[in-house]
Amino acid sequence: MYPRLEINISKLKHNVDTLSQICKSHNIDMIMVTKSYCAIPEVVEKISGDKVDYLADSRVENIKNLQNINIPKVLLRIPMLSEIADVVKYVDVSFNSELKTIYKLNEESKKQNKVHKIVLMFDLGDLREGYFKEEELFSAVEEVLKLENIKLFGIATNLTCYGAIIPSEKNLGRLASLAKAIENKYNITLEFVSGGNSSSIDLLQNLKMPKGITNLRLGEAVILGRETAYGKVIENTYQDTFKMICEVVEIKEKPSLPIGEIGMDAFGNVPKYEDKGILKRAIVAIGKQDIDIEGIVPIDSDIEILGASSDHMILNVSDCKQSYEVGDKVEFLVEYGGLLTSCTSKYVHKELVYSEFTQKQEAY
Ligand SMILES: *Cc1c(COP(=O)(O)O)cnc(C)c1O
Repeated sequence: MYPRLEINISKLKHNVDTLSQICKSHNIDMIMVTKSYCAIPEVVEKISGDKVDYLADSRVENIKNLQNINIPKVLLRIPMLSEIADVVKYVDVSFNSELKTIYKLNEESKKQNKVHKIVLMFDLGDLREGYFKEEELFSAVEEVLKLENIKLFGIATNLTCYGAIIPSEKNLGRLASLAKAIENKYNITLEFVSGGNSSSIDLLQNLKMPKGITNLRLGEAVILGRETAYGKVIENTYQDTFKMICEVVEIKEKPSLPIGEIGMDAFGNVPKYEDKGILKRAIVAIGKQDIDIEGIVPIDSDIEILGASSDHMILNVSDCKQSYEVGDKVEFLVEYGGLLTSCTSKYVHKELVYSEFTQKQEAY
């Protein structure tokens, strides 16, 4: 069935092992983030093994499907008030930044006869979620410590998301010293001082991770073997862990410039086209409903992606050595955005594959 997303379990497992080694050698717990592939339970189960300290996702729906896997689960997106019952039921640790939500979590935990662990988010300048002023954080801590069915498990920050701010000794050092200050002031221990996502790997490998940071939350570093502060490939990892395979449904020679008066395309944009003469074009049966076409790379480097509408993607195959025909399959490597969208599309058939480690792929 096509379009088909091949998920290479052997290569992903290898990446998990590499990242877990990096984390362990620096005394950092590894949180494996599963959201980019919708936490497909079979994949999570097969690649996590005993190397992963926590599983994390931003969606309760995804975490709900992982209940059979015996690894603590973290909810990364601050909860909606409307999902509190499921959060308490399915999640071990949730990230929070609003007392209104935390009070609700406490009430619900009481009802479910549980103690729910929370992590308070602190914003170090990336300007997505979290308390921004230190006094706000401290007064939240004070409130949380009064709640019977909530345990303050730690603090965390998120960087390189909205504001593209790079983790540093300075900003993460501030998080670590805030954690220490909270521990000293309230005479408690914070198990969880979470120093960011895949963008923190570079700092870690350069031995600059401030002492007191206890874990990292790794999505892209695991699945695509890449740190995200500078976009560098991580040594001893695979980048070709996911492959998209599409089927050709039309091959024709056509001009590169549309003919007639240009109005709006299928998405309401007024497009601009460059005249490249007559092109040999292939249509493959995949579209914007299935994938972010900016997030895939043709493996045949002579193919150029010209564009896509909801269900058709148009390729320029004029310069290809291979002569593509109707029914042929075209393969693409999948980047982060391509993975996110194609895993979410129910029209993309997902298949787990295993490889012998005969050849080590270099970075693309
Ligand atoms: C998505 C997400 C992560 C993982 O990010 P990567 O860059 O893929 O490692 C970590 N923390 C939070 C809060 C997230 O939303």
